[in-house]
Formats: sequence, C-alpha cells, structure tokens
Amino acid sequence: MRDISCKLLVIGAGPGGYVCAIRAGQLGIDTVLVEGNKLGGTCLNIGCIRSKALIHAADEFSRVTHFASGGSLLGISLAAPQLDLARTMQWKDGVVGRLTGGVAALLKKANVKIVTGWARFRDGKTVEVETEIGVQVVRAEQVVIATGSKAVELSALPFGGPVISSTEALALNAVPRRLAVLGAGYIGLELGTAFAKMGAAVTVIEALPRILPQYDAELTRPVAEHLQALGITVLTGAKGQELTQAKDGLVVEQADGSRVTIEIDKVLVAVGRSPATEGWDLEAIDLDMDGPFIHVDDRCRTSMRGVYAIGDVTGEPMLAHRASAQGEMVAEIVAGKRRAWDRTCIPAICFTDPEIVVAGLTPEAAKAAHIDIISDVFPFRANGRALTLESSAGFVRMVARADNHLLLGIQGVGAAISELSAAFSLAIEMGARLEDVTGTIFAHPTLGEGMLEAALKTLGHAIHI
Ligand SMILES: Cc1cc2nc3c(=O)[nH]c(=O)nc-3n(C[C@H](O)[C@H](O)[C@H](O)COP(=O)(O)OP(=O)(O)OC[C@H]3O[C@@H](n4cnc5c(N)ncnc54)[C@H](O)[C@@H]3O)c2cc1C
Repeated sequence: MRDISCKLLVIGAGPGGYVCAIRAGQLGIDTVLVEGNKLGGTCLNIGCIRSKALIHAADEFSRVTHFASGGSLLGISLAAPQLDLARTMQWKDGVVGRLTGGVAALLKKANVKIVTGWARFRDGKTVEVETEIGVQVVRAEQVVIATGSKAVELSALPFGGPVISSTEALALNAVPRRLAVLGAGYIGLELGTAFAKMGAAVTVIEALPRILPQYDAELTRPVAEHLQALGITVLTGAKGQELTQAKDGLVVEQADGSRVTIEIDKVLVAVGRSPATEGWDLEAIDLDMDGPFIHVDDRCRTSMRGVYAIGDVTGEPMLAHRASAQGEMVAEIVAGKRRAWDRTCIPAICFTDPEIVVAGLTPEAAKAAHIDIISDVFPFRANGRALTLESSAGFVRMVARADNHLLLGIQGVGAAISELSAAFSLAIEMGARLEDVTGTIFAHPTLGEGMLEAALKTLGHAIHI
C-alpha cells in the first residue's frame, strides 16, 4: 500500500476530531482523518445522541403509563401501554445512522480523506494504520490527537455478564427487571432514570454523600426528589463490592459499614470515564501529561511541536461541545489564523428529570475565587409556561459581580431547561450584565421568562414573585 502524505492528520472521528477535520477541509488544508470504529465517536454512537434518544423514548412511555394509571389531571386516559425495547433501539439506531451518515457527507464535502483503522504512532509525524487490507502509513506535517475516552472499569466488577457499561446499557433489547447503577454522576442518573421510567426496579449506589456530587445541593435537590417519586432507591455513601456467586446479587457496603445484597439482573457501572491514551503507542512520542490526560496549552498544543490534542483525551470537562470547539480552533490555527482558547463558559447539562444546566460560575465557585457577588433564584412555580407544562419544579439562578453586575454564571434546574442553556451561555460569553438581561424582551409564555425574572430578582425588583 502506498504511503499517504498530508498536511494535517486527525486521529479519532468523535465530535473533536471530525469537527476539526471538516473545518480544516473547509480552509483548504489537505486533511486525513483516521477512525478505528465509527464516524461520530462516543458522542454519536454510544454517548450523547443514543442516551438522549433513549431518555426521550422513556419519557414518552412514562407519560402514557401515567395516563393509563388514571393519575393525569388533564383528563386523558388510556389502556395500559406496552414497550417493545428492541423497536425503540431500532428507532434510536436510525437516528444515530442519520447523524453519522451526515458526518460522512460533510467530511466528503470538505474533501477530507477518511482512513478506517486503528492508528499507532511511529514517530511524531508518522502513524501506521491497521486497515482491513493491511498497514497504511500516513505522514503528516501536523497531527491532532482526538482519541477520546472510555468507561472506567472496576477491578472487583469487571465488564462482562450482568456487569455493563453505558455502551451495553444503550443497546439492551429488553428492560432489566432489576438494575443497579454504580455512580450517581450524570451518565448513571440519566440512564437509571430512563430505565426506571421503562419499568425497571432501579437502585443507584453512590460512594459520595450525595447524588451529582459535582453540582451544588440546591441544584440537585429537585432531581433527588424526583428520583424518589419514580421509586428509585438511592444509596449514598455506599460502594458496590462484588457479585454473588450466582451473579444475581450485588454486595453493597453501606455508609455505616454494614453489607447488604441487592438482587440484580444487570449492574450498570457508570463511575466515570478515563482518557483513551493506550493502544496507540503514546510512548513513541513521549508527550507531557496532566495526570492521566495529555497536557495542552491554550492553543491545544502538546509538548511536541506540530502535535495537538483535543477533546476528552485532554481533560475535564469531558463534553462533546468542548471537544468540537477545540477542534474548530485547532483547524484554524493550522491554517495560520491567530486563535487561542478564550472561552469563559463551557455549559454542562444533566439530562436528568428535571434537567440541570450549569453555565459559568456557581455562587460557591465565585466565593471560592474571592469575588464579591449578588445572586438570586426565580422558581418555575411562578412561571406560567412551566405550569401549563405541569412541571413547576426548579428555578433559574443568576450569579453576578456585586460591583458592576457582570454575569458570572447562570444555572437552573427544571423540565426542558436544557434548551435555555444557549441563552445562558450567550449572555455570559458576551459579557452581559444583569441590566442587559432585564433590558431584553422575553416572549411570553416561555420558560425563558424565568431567566428575565431571575435577573430582575437579583436586582431586587422581580415582577412575578
Ligand atoms: C452515555 C454517555 C452520554 C453522554 N452524554 C453527553 C451529553 O449529553 N453531552 C455532552 O456534551 N457529552 C456527553 N457525553 C460525553 C461525550 O460523548 C464526549 O465528551 C465526546 O464524545 C468527546 O469527544 P472526543 O472527540 O474527544 O472523543 P470521542 O467521541 O470519544 O471520539 C474518539 C474517537 O477516536 C477513535 N479512536 C481512538 N483511538 C484511535 C486510534 N488509535 N486510531 C483510530 N481511531 C481512534 C475512537 O474510536 C472514537 O471514535 C456522553 C458520554 C457518554 C458515554
């Protein structure tokens, strides 16, 4: 096979790598993208899109089940619904297929050459790709490492048999009757909630004292309350230890040190993700590391000249939109544009029920940074649109500098609040002040009015509360 030479080689076609390759192609850079698995990476194939599709299906099933139970105040009643999870998964695969097909078309339009196979570094400018028809050598002037991350495995509960990662959970063809979820981070809670809505008896086991430990308790309280309403058992301060011999029980050490056995059909281990730094001869290029992650500067340059790294492999927050923003920036740098990472805000969303959005600094983070702040919340129970949607739990919270009212953070929890994340991020990134928000007309009746009212309330003159 003849060697390929190119200006830019991107390794990994997740939202970091494929966005980088498309932008590079648009800028006329001769680009090769190597992917060992499927275009779209974790995000499209086993992460964001699959999980949100499953969450939507679970929400729909839960809604009609609620109608069938006679519990709806809307006067809607139904016969008991059935769920055919295999068909749900087929539909979900169709959504994923449409998106990955779209990525392939966009790469083609941008003249990016795709090489399918696993890349290994020979040196900082050369990789060998194991393709189906042999080893393809690719030489490049510049290289972008976008190899992503993988699910953390517990040595006492290795994947296999009833012990699954999010990848297998998103491909189940039947709802497990009894599901234990290890880890109450966003992945564990999103999937645990979806399976509970589809009829599984779910137990969530979290080693730390509360769910979603990276978020403040004020934000997570409505989620904790709803988990309880859904009948999900949450054991905090507890650790999953091992399977019973018959593999139908999970031994759990509880907060007080006592051990209980929970009956299970599946155990979903969702205790975090680690950077994918193995299997491609990182040693051959000996890059500086930040703990387990590849160290990068504000231009995503690694310690080796001409080698960049983007996305999950470079650290937290491991989110698709951060990877894409880094990818777009690196493509422009390679094209000779002056770019550096200057973003103030990387929003994070938990697609739990209700949803949580965190953009910018929380009050705790601002105080920890010794910034004098003003902050207040507006509850959705005083928002007309929330009431018409039967979802009055939650609030929007503003965090602003006390001296000039510059917005430092906007957070919220509530049904469908994920769609407000764009407005939150835009306001922070554009350097808006509370008065810029209150000087904007928000359409009525919308959940977005919660943002306006939260700004008014922080200034001391909310109208609707
Ligand atoms: C269940 C789940 C739900 C998630 N939900 C969200 C969400 O709602 N929002 C959000 O922002 N993020 C979410 N994430 C995280 C998100 O998927 C990642 O942050 C994102 O995919 C990272 O993008 P990336 O480009 O860095 O890497 P990845 O998407 O992991 O892509 C890396 C690619 O590199 C390929 N690769 C690795 N090594 C090689 C090699 N040697 N040769 C060739 N190819 C290689 C891999 O096959 C993979 O396709 C979720 C993740 C999971 C698991």
